[in-house]
Amino acid sequence: MAAQSSPAPDDGPGGSIAARLRAGEPSFSFEFFPPKDEAGEAQLWQAIETLEPYQPTFVSVTYGAGGTTRDTTVRVTGRIARETSLTPMAHLTCVGHTVAEIEAVLDSYADAGVENVMLLRGDPHEGPRAPWTPTAGGLTYAAELVELVKARGGFDIGVAAFPEGHPSAASLDADADVLAAKARAGAQFAITQMFFRASDYFGLVERVRGRGVDLPILPGIMPILNLAAIRRQGELIGTSVPADIVARIERHEDPKAIRAEGIGIAAELCEQLLDGGAPGLHFYTLNRSTATLEIFDRLNVRV
Ligand code: FAD
Repeated sequence: MAAQSSPAPDDGPGGSIAARLRAGEPSFSFEFFPPKDEAGEAQLWQAIETLEPYQPTFVSVTYGAGGTTRDTTVRVTGRIARETSLTPMAHLTCVGHTVAEIEAVLDSYADAGVENVMLLRGDPHEGPRAPWTPTAGGLTYAAELVELVKARGGFDIGVAAFPEGHPSAASLDADADVLAAKARAGAQFAITQMFFRASDYFGLVERVRGRGVDLPILPGIMPILNLAAIRRQGELIGTSVPADIVARIERHEDPKAIRAEGIGIAAELCEQLLDGGAPGLHFYTLNRSTATLEIFDRLNVRV
C-alpha cells in the first residue's frame, strides 16, 4: 500500500472524499477528537504534524456529546483546512440541537472551509445505552440529517456503520436496512465502528450490497493497547472482543509485549480487510500518532 492518495480529477478545493474513494486507490484516514485544554491541543497538533507527511485521504474530527465541543470542532477543522495540506471532515450529531442550530453549525463548517461532514444521530447525554429522546424541533435519526444536508448541498456526506450491528438495532438485517436508507438519503460513504473480526465487516458489506447499495464502507481500526478499556468501551457500543484475541493479549505480562501484540493484531486485521477488498482503512488515533505509525510499519506503509 503506498502512502499517498491521488485526488480525483473532479476534486474541488479542499477535496471531495467521495471523489477520492471513487478513484479506487486504497484510502487511509485518521480520526481525531476535539481537545479539551491546551495540553490536549498541543498533543493533537503534534499528531497532525507527524501524520501529515503520510498524505491521508482525509482526517476527521469528532463532535462531542450534546454539541459540547461544537466550537472546538469548527475551530480545529477550520485550522486543518487553512494551515495544512490535509482534507478535513467535521462530524455533526443531532443531540440537543434544533434544525436551526444544525443549520448554523453547517454554516460555520462551510465558512471554515470544510467540505466533508460525517452525519450522526449521536448518543443521549446518559450514554450509548440510554433511551434516545429527540430534541423538540430537532431530528430523530441520522438519515434525516443526511436528507437535510443533501438538500442544502455543498458537503460530501459520510455516515456511521456497525459491523456487529448498532446496539439498539433489532437485528443485523434491520441495521443494514438503516445503513441502506442513509445511502439512499444521500450518504456517499460510511465508516464503521471499531471491530476485531474481518468476517463481521465483510458480513455487513454483503448485507448492504444485498440491498442494492454500493456505498464505500471504510473499516474503523482501533488497536487494543489496553484490553480492559477496550472491553468496557466495547460493551457500551456493541463491539465484542473475540476470545482468541483476548487470549493472545492475556498471555503477555510485559506492557511492551502487550502493546506489540495489540499492534500486531490490528495489522493482521488491516491486511485481511485490504486483501478482501475493503476500500481503505480509517484509524481511530485518540490524538496520538504512535500506534497508527506502528501499524503502518507492520503494513510497510512509508512516507
Ligand atoms: P442512526 O443511523 O440514526 O441509528 C440510531 C439507531 O436508530 C440505530 O439503532 C438504528 O438501527 C435505529 N434507526 C435508525 N433509523 C431508524 C428508523 N427509521 N426506524 C427505526 N430505527 C431506526 N457520536 C458522537 O456523539 N460524536 C461523534 O463525532 C461520533 N462519531 C462517530 C463516528 C463513527 C465512525 C461511528 C461509527 C460512530 C460515531 N459516533 C459519534 C457514535 C454515534 O453517534 C452512535 O453510535 C449513535 O448511537 C448512532 O448514530 P447513527 O448516526 O448511526 O444513528
